[in-house]
Amino acid sequence: AYVIAEPCVGTKDNSCVEVCPVDCIHPTPDEPDYDKVDQLYIDPEECIDCDACVEACPVDAAFAEDQLPDEWAKFVQINQEYFAGK
Ligand code: SF4
Repeated sequence: AYVIAEPCVGTKDNSCVEVCPVDCIHPTPDEPDYDKVDQLYIDPEECIDCDACVEACPVDAAFAEDQLPDEWAKFVQINQEYFAGK
């Protein structure tokens, strides 16, 4: 699965939400808690590894999990946790 990391925090440009073919990037702007979280997340169960979000992101926040820089390794879990229980 792909992962959204630190550069998204406080940015939430949403370009990736628009291009994702399976709508697995959340929250979307129409979700009630959108303004309370400070970054976007990729649902690891839904992501089909298409790479579209990487191209779309203006701040290079989206990565294939195996290309995620070591300093942002914790974002694998951070993305998973957002969807836990949903
Ligand atoms: Fe969506 Fe494709 Fe990015 Fe996965 S790699 S989050 S399917 S745009």
